[in-house]
This record gives sequence, structure tokens and C-alpha cells, in this order.
Amino acid sequence: QAKLEGKNGLFFYRDHLRAAAEENLRLEQLLRESLERGEVDLNYQPIVALDSGRVVGAEALLRWHHPELGQVEPDRFIAVAESSTLIDELGRFVLARACHDAAAWQESCPGLRVGVNISGRQLLRRDLVHLVEQSLAESGLPAACLSLELTESSLLHDRDLAAETLLALRQRDINVWLDDFGTGFSGLNHLRQLRVSGVKIDRSFVADILSDPDDLALSSAIIAMAHSVGMRVIAEGVESREQLELLRDNGCDLVQGFLLARPMPAAEIAAFRPEPGLFDPASD
Ligand code: C2E
Ligand code: MG
Ligand code: MG
Ligand code: MG
Repeated sequence: QAKLEGKNGLFFYRDHLRAAAEENLRLEQLLRESLERGEVDLNYQPIVALDSGRVVGAEALLRWHHPELGQVEPDRFIAVAESSTLIDELGRFVLARACHDAAAWQESCPGLRVGVNISGRQLLRRDLVHLVEQSLAESGLPAACLSLELTESSLLHDRDLAAETLLALRQRDINVWLDDFGTGFSGLNHLRQLRVSGVKIDRSFVADILSDPDDLALSSAIIAMAHSVGMRVIAEGVESREQLELLRDNGCDLVQGFLLARPMPAAEIAAFRPEPGLFDPASD
């Protein structure tokens, strides 16, 4: 009896794996078609300076609305794209579109930056720097207005190639930020050597800074250490005024989150201003 169960369990597991693999292949195919049909789009979430309340930039975030599947979560479809060559096409699309959109903002908001997420697999491609230069040249966006967001883990796959790519980007005046910081193992010293502009504190820490003293201690240590080596800090996932104020008290430079704004279409970014009350000096 037990043996039979075990066997059935194995079959079940195998079927389950096969079904999951088929589902991924189907998603990949649908995403490929959607990309061609223009059903993949970028939204932008403002990044705001904590001292002045000024919008200094916006992060480009992929949105996929499929006619039958509806809205698909980026974490889901980007993982699918990353397991195939589709991430290269998606990455090219994102860089070109983000530079194009940000170039249009420059007229009314000179210096406004755009942040583009770069997946681990993209960073392993030798032509990444070339691709970035091409997107800048075609759009006319100044290099200093483009920030690339890399994750800690993507820097660890091939450290030499990563260091080489980061140096080439810095030489071209392109900023690099470390995304989801605190979830991996990068020491700040390593990051300083790589000359990254700063780190984005992962939203899982920001979520708990009011209730969990460890998360507050960690966030404030990250801010202090980053400043001591000349890097800046963005806190992502800021949802409440209390979080914003605590981050301000701890010297955080920039904030991003639903409290300030949800991701929005490119055309709305240039006119966006955060609610003034959040940055009113009198409210301190
Ligand atoms: P990420 O780069 O860490 O982006 C921040 C995520 O946090 C976004 O989720 C954003 O919508 C969400 N977020 C911002 N503020 C808040 C908040 O106050 N509360 C909560 N709960 N969430 C907030 P999204 O758009 O679902 O993207 C998820 C991830 O997918 C991104 O994480 C990034 O890793 C990846 N991604 C998105 N667009 C791209 C892209 O163009 N290329 C690549 N390679 N990855 C992308
Ligand atoms: Mg990001
Ligand atoms: Mg992040
Ligand atoms: Mg994330």
C-alpha cells in the first residue's frame, strides 16, 4: 500500500513538473506574440528626493496585458523570459522604450532620470554596453539621465564580466544602482569598488521598519554605511507617512512607493508632483 502510494506520488510529481514546464512554454509563446503585437508596455513610478519633495526620476516597470490572460505579474513573466532568449528581446524593448520616453520628459523636466531594470541574464551578455549606447543615441537621452538597476545576485554570476561592464558604464556616465539591497550578500565595500551610485533598500525591509527593530536597525545601518562610502540610498515600497518620516529621520536620500505614487503611464510623469503635505517642512 505504502509503495503504491509512493509510486502514485512520483507519477503525480512528474505530471506536475511536466504541466509546469508546458505552462511556462505557453506563457513564453504568448509573451513573444504580445511583444510583437505591442501588448507589452512600460509604466513609470516616480522617485522623490526626501529633503525637497522633488521628483528626480522614475523607474520603468514592465506591464503585460494579454487579451485572454489579462494582466500578468512581472515577477511571473520575467522569470519565464529569463529562462529563454526572450529576455534579450524584452530587454532591448525596455531599454529603447524607456530611453525614448525619458527623452520626451527632458523638454519640460531637464535632468529627470529613468531607471531601467536589468536582469541577471542581460548582464551576462557582452553586448549590453553597446545596446545601452545604441538606445541612448537613438533617443537622444543624455547618458547621465539613465540609471540601470541591477540585483546583487546578478553581480555574482560572473564577477569579472560584471566588473568590466560596470566600469564601462561608469566611463560613459551611466549610473548603476543596486536593486533589492539587503536580500543578498554584497558587502558595501565590494559595491564601492564597483563604483555603483547607490543602493535601493528592498521593500521587505521598508515594510517592517515601524514594527521590527531589526529591520529599522538594518535600514539605518545601510544608509549610514552607504553614505560613508559616498553612495546614495533609495527606499522602495514606501506605503505610509510614518515610514517616510522614519526614513527621513535616518537620513535616507530618496523614496519610491505607493504613498507617493503608483506606477503610471509615461505621459503622466512630467506633470506629476507628490502631495505637498508629505514634504512640508512645517509638518516636521
Ligand atoms: P523591482 O525592480 O524591485 O521593482 C519594484 C516593485 O515594487 C514593482 O513591482 C513596483 O510596482 C513595486 N512597488 C513599488 N512601490 C510599492 C509599494 O509601495 N508597495 C508595494 N507592495 N509594491 C511596490 P512590479 O512592477 O510588480 O515589478 C516586480 C519586479 O519585476 C521588479 O522589482 C523587477 O525585478 C522586475 N521587473 C519589472 N520591470 C522589469 C523590466 O523592465 N526588466 C526586468 N529585467 N525586470 C523588471
Ligand atoms: Mg527595480
Ligand atoms: Mg527592488
Ligand atoms: Mg523586487
